[in-house]
Amino acid sequence: MSADPASVSVTALRGVGSKVAAKLARLNLHTVQDILFHLPFRYEDRTRVVPIGSMRPGDSAVIQGEVLLTEIKFGRRRSLLSRISDGTGTVTLRFFHFNAAQKESLKRGAMVRCYGEARKGAATLELIHPEYQIVGPGFNNEVEEHLTPVYSTTDGVHQLKLRDLTDQALRYVAELREWLPADLLEKLELPTLHDAICLLHRPAADISVHALTDSRHPTQQRLAFEELLAHHLSMRQLRERMQAHHAPALQTAGQLQSQFLQSLEFSLTNAQQRVVNEIHADLVCEVPMQRLVQGDVGSGKTAVAACAALAAIEAGYQVAMMAPTELLAEQHYQNFRNWLVPMGINIAWLSGSLKAKARKESLSSIEDGSAQMVVGTHALFQDEVCFAKLGLVIIDEQHRFGVHQRLALREKGNSEAGHPHQLIMTATPIPRTLAMTFYADLDSSVIDEMPPGRTPVTTVVIPDSRRDEVVQRVEQACKSGRQVYWVCTLIEESEALQCEAAEDTAKLLAEALPDLKVTLVHGRMKAAEKEAAMLAFKQGNIDLLVATTVIEVGVDVPNASLMVIENAERFGLAQLHQLRGRVGRGSHESNCVLLYRTPLSLRARARLAVMRETTDGFEIARHDLEQRGPGEVLGTRQTGLAEMRIADLLRDQDLLPLVEQTAAQLFQHWPEHVSPLVRRWIGDAQRYADV
Ligand code: ADP
Ligand code: MG
Repeated sequence: MSADPASVSVTALRGVGSKVAAKLARLNLHTVQDILFHLPFRYEDRTRVVPIGSMRPGDSAVIQGEVLLTEIKFGRRRSLLSRISDGTGTVTLRFFHFNAAQKESLKRGAMVRCYGEARKGAATLELIHPEYQIVGPGFNNEVEEHLTPVYSTTDGVHQLKLRDLTDQALRYVAELREWLPADLLEKLELPTLHDAICLLHRPAADISVHALTDSRHPTQQRLAFEELLAHHLSMRQLRERMQAHHAPALQTAGQLQSQFLQSLEFSLTNAQQRVVNEIHADLVCEVPMQRLVQGDVGSGKTAVAACAALAAIEAGYQVAMMAPTELLAEQHYQNFRNWLVPMGINIAWLSGSLKAKARKESLSSIEDGSAQMVVGTHALFQDEVCFAKLGLVIIDEQHRFGVHQRLALREKGNSEAGHPHQLIMTATPIPRTLAMTFYADLDSSVIDEMPPGRTPVTTVVIPDSRRDEVVQRVEQACKSGRQVYWVCTLIEESEALQCEAAEDTAKLLAEALPDLKVTLVHGRMKAAEKEAAMLAFKQGNIDLLVATTVIEVGVDVPNASLMVIENAERFGLAQLHQLRGRVGRGSHESNCVLLYRTPLSLRARARLAVMRETTDGFEIARHDLEQRGPGEVLGTRQTGLAEMRIADLLRDQDLLPLVEQTAAQLFQHWPEHVSPLVRRWIGDAQRYADV
């Protein structure tokens, strides 16, 4: 065959009409190249018959032996048992569904060959519902020549069909284009694409199934490298596409900013100052800023955002600031109002829960430009919101949104004034290796210094049985003038039940601590009630705030010095770190009590140990990544963005520096290779941009 499989439709294959093609499209298989890159996700070894005596529980293998006895067993469930032996050992085949003919074929003395997974049985190993065939003179006695590939299938396109299709597609493999530079392949001693694809679809009998399962085989590493490269390239392409847009150059004398900084009761840390400078350097350019600011919980990202906002406002543009929850957005709104209204700046508020009249007012002030800044939730990005002159979009705690939404949001603010600059802030530190792949479209700044005078939070881990002691600690803290958070996470599945449980806890605590002012906030309360409770807490009128995880992000009350987290074993590391970040914001010695219920799983125990031992967000993120994997941590699981076919960001992270180098080489010397490579692995690259 002489056609490039990337441009041959699957319908060129025998047995693929429009119906099958439509089914294949569900697996994202459109071309013969797609079929070639639809790699098996596991393998079975049916190339040899193994001695029964060598089988261990959990092994899957072909065995062959003589039937010693076949009988129907009447137990809890009727089953057909057939005991077979090959002289090295005995196994039992067990069938729950069977017929008379089957029983007859397995009669004593018959030779059978089966494939199945061995499990521990009462007397011998058992194979439950194995595939089997009778062997001997007059039967087909051949074993498979290759390891058997197992593909992911879809309704109506079963395993054997895919095997047939890959057989056919492999006839095109010689025409598959190699997009990696030859000298690179040579230097890395990587197998050719051709060899890798052929081997992975039809591995020779001498290749170990285990090596393939671990994806450590050189052919797999070769493809993993190419896949990571394709992802990285696609993000870089996105970046280039963004940079082709025009943005307003926000050149100012910096008057508003100096006025603002003078009004603060602190001065910026060096790290904050540095990041502010990096942002300003972007804002004066006519290319849209795409900057990610990473700063641990409490590092002071809000003040940095304010400096950016003031540059845009001074230059005569509007600023939109979005936060993931209503509570957090409200808090930003309060902060910015306190800071900016005295400077004569007009700020609007927009959230989903706004009443019709107030909403209309907000919308019209955004549209006629009288609102110089708008703070809100994702309601800000709905279609009916029209900005008069949007110059800057700030997204806080972006890890709550996920990569997909981030990319979607950036398209929204596009207008005649140009493309707005974008500032993205996160408290979830992204390890450099991941940042390279998933945030390669962004520039990044790190606030790597905490404001002075903070004392690190001391964390203790205490079983729920010692709750009384904890209640006493709460009392002590409040008596000495501090305030306390008590976070309930709840075992209940439904939000309504969670809130009820929080209500119960609040009641019990109020009874146990009659001298303290105890208040509750939870997600089902009206926005105004929540706001009132938070404000009262912030003003010091409440001693103990019982809350659900609504306070997780961003809430800022420096006088709070103790946090109790109930059922801490149920939280992930990132969430615990966020929660704990609510204390230790003032100069008082702060504590966090992680209450847990026994029994603790090993993983929960490990998480709590990490929390006790470190307050370093990067360290915690590293553990989190190890425990949960990149898809979960980056919130990309639902979007499919982190779903790789063969690469694994954690396992293959040592390949990443080389991926970055190679990407740079390709852009410089072989730019025409970039798009086909991206298309091969990611399909239509537009998927990232036009969400
Ligand atoms: P985060 O980075 O978690 O969003 P915030 O912006 O909420 O942190 O800041 C946390 C607290 O630290 C706030 O009370 C803020 O006023 C204060 N803060 C910010 N920068 C400084 C600084 N340079 N010196 C002292 N306090 C600061
Ligand atoms: Mg914040």
